[in-house]
Amino acid sequence: MNISGANILVTGGGRGIGQHLVNQLHQAGARLCVLEYDAPLCEELNQLAPDSIQALQCDVSDADAVDRAVQQIVESGFYIDVLINNAGIIHSEPLVNMLSRAERVHSRDNWRKVMSADLDSVFFVTSRVVDHMLAKRKKGIVISISSIAANGNAGQSAYSAAKAGVNALTHTWAKELGPMGLRFIAVAPGFIDTPSTRAALSETILLKLQQQVPLRRLGEMGAVFQAVRYAIENDYLTGSVLEVDGGLVL
Ligand code: NAD
Repeated sequence: MNISGANILVTGGGRGIGQHLVNQLHQAGARLCVLEYDAPLCEELNQLAPDSIQALQCDVSDADAVDRAVQQIVESGFYIDVLINNAGIIHSEPLVNMLSRAERVHSRDNWRKVMSADLDSVFFVTSRVVDHMLAKRKKGIVISISSIAANGNAGQSAYSAAKAGVNALTHTWAKELGPMGLRFIAVAPGFIDTPSTRAALSETILLKLQQQVPLRRLGEMGAVFQAVRYAIENDYLTGSVLEVDGGLVL
């Protein structure tokens, strides 16, 4: 599929990797719609290029809110060719914290929060968007931003499980909906240099992490965009997880 002229829906496009994807896809000639729960970030996006970028405030982990937003997008005449499931939260917490006297086991609230933001959201948005693609008899592509944590990352039970779920859904939907002309790809980054990565990890930890990466550096957001562009443009690609990780194996 050509990016130029495509209608692309991006979740969590207000910041970080999502924002980078929105900017790059816009420059490549796509029309964009963004679902983002941060209202000021939506406003910023809406002022960027009002003719070709439209942002709606929506928490994609809320099924009813997703149903309303997708309905509104379709009724506005924006027929989605590509969905990019990018919204998510990164969370680290040990299964059992042996140093803590009070809350020793992984918080169940945090488990639910991460599963809901990183896995339920992908199911809610994709099911609605695919229904719309099938009704319009359009060829469509769903790209989900996963993570190499899907292979199992110590200290990230919920995040690893959610991203493994995203990969499983990608394989499942590729088989189920390939015959209808729909493609499903996951892009699994390693450690990417984003403002949220820099905010979450100290300089010392970042330097340590880089030593574990064969290419000895964090990835740039541009590397994730290149994988997304390849996924959109290569019409024989489906069911794959594209790892963009500088060779880091977890
Ligand atoms: P980020 O926190 O910088 O940006 C996430 C964006 O999504 C924000 O704008 C946020 O407001 C929005 N968002 C979060 N939850 C939402 C929800 N429920 N509804 C609507 N919007 C929501 O994060 P990032 O680092 O850019 O990560 C983006 C994606 O890439 C995530 O899925 C993350 O798991 C994945 N990822 C990131 C890295 C990394 O190194 N940064 C590595 C691997 C995978």
